[in-house]
Amino acid sequence: MNRPIYLDHHATTPIDKRVIDIMLPYFYEKFGNASSIDHVYGNEAVSAVNKAREQLAHDIGCHSEEIIFTSGATESDNLAIFGVARILKEKGNHIITCVTEHKAILDSCKQLENEGFNITYLKVNQDGEINLKELENVITPKTIMISIMAANNEVGTIAPLKQIGLIAHKNNILFHTDAAQSFGHIPLNVKELSIDLMSISAHKIGGPKGIGALYVSNDKPLVKIMPLIYGGGHEKGMRSGTLNVPGIVGLGEASRLAHEEMKITEIKLEKLRNKLYNGISSQCTVKINGNSKNKLNHNLNISFENIDAKALINEIKNELAVSTGSACNSNDVKPSHVLLSLGFDEERAFSSIRFGLGKTNTEEQIDFAITEIIKAVNKLSNL
Ligand SMILES: *Cc1c(COP(=O)(O)O)cnc(C)c1O
Repeated sequence: MNRPIYLDHHATTPIDKRVIDIMLPYFYEKFGNASSIDHVYGNEAVSAVNKAREQLAHDIGCHSEEIIFTSGATESDNLAIFGVARILKEKGNHIITCVTEHKAILDSCKQLENEGFNITYLKVNQDGEINLKELENVITPKTIMISIMAANNEVGTIAPLKQIGLIAHKNNILFHTDAAQSFGHIPLNVKELSIDLMSISAHKIGGPKGIGALYVSNDKPLVKIMPLIYGGGHEKGMRSGTLNVPGIVGLGEASRLAHEEMKITEIKLEKLRNKLYNGISSQCTVKINGNSKNKLNHNLNISFENIDAKALINEIKNELAVSTGSACNSNDVKPSHVLLSLGFDEERAFSSIRFGLGKTNTEEQIDFAITEIIKAVNKLSNL
């Protein structure tokens, strides 16, 4: 068994070997620019990009013209938030989001506040869920967009997307969702869910880093956005810059595999996650953070009674790779904003560990992980 065993798949995932294989030719033999339409090199790149675009569209139930390739979910979130805000600012200056969002959303919203926008940050309950009544109550005639993540990257809570979409559309408001964690793990049909913009990332589902997409509805409603990057007018002018062809090919293939294998993968992940939880909780006192049922199958976020999470992670770091929370905050000494938003005190936040399971994890690895965690907890308790 290779160690440390990787149990931090919310931060990133290893690239699936099949995805690498399909990407490789696009670095060298088929290196063309997807904007070069005058020769075979360009044409090969164009058809590879088209194929990936159609694959993604198929997997989320939209048209291929509605997919804008970006550098990842951070850029997609920025493009959605600023893109909509800047184009609709005459219509209204109010956006509704939620306290447990990823920093890519929260920091974009903070910047919009500096630019004169009003942002409502919905609170969540102990399970990490927003209150739909409250959502309806905070809508004003100036509200232009609701941005609520599809599933939380720390505690895995899945949002009631369909209900949020209905509320948004009933009030003529756009609905954006950051689906970086849920894309490829739960079915996301954007039309059925009334989603108007959706951010996705390749590296959370066995694809390469630095590539993602923003779905932007092009019919009912026709959504217009202001670009963040100007240049050659790529991606219908919404995102200029030579397309990352190998990355796009990788994203398309990672999406295809994730969706075709979703049923089997999710059964496996749920089983492994439950095994991990049962193994740990039968031998020491832990509490689940977030809703224990309505959550991503590969997520387990638990607090250990009277244990400092950093000390525990340090104790097991040669055996297991886990984290306290969001990878973007890992150098912070601040407690997780998500866990505090769930109503927990700093002590509970500082005693929490996030496990993110992946499709390559095995039962044997989970057995080993349980043993190592219990050993470390016992050692730290006896200090
Ligand atoms: C990982 C993640 C992001 C950032 O995605 P990148 O592609 O790494 O920029 C944004 N939102 C959520 C919820 C994430 O989990």
